[in-house]
Amino acid sequence: MKCKHCKYPNKEGWFYCRSCGKKANESKFTTNMYMGSDVGKRSDIEFSVVDSDTHMKNLEKQRQAKHNKYWKEKINAIR
Ligand SMILES: [Zn+2]
Repeated sequence: MKCKHCKYPNKEGWFYCRSCGKKANESKFTTNMYMGSDVGKRSDIEFSVVDSDTHMKNLEKQRQAKHNKYWKEKINAIR
């Protein structure tokens, strides 16, 4: 991607040109990109936290169920 004003190479995708200081791309495009990535990142974090939390709870439930089953079988075996 290059600056639309001075054609300075904008490899890192800066919103503003490093050379002339103007917006390197169409404002609509960059605003959408910025909004999309910002919201996307935030919801990603929230979702991953919720997901890992419920995931951990489910794992704990599964472990306890296995644990209870194991000891029930052990007790039955002894009897
Ligand atoms: Zn420029």
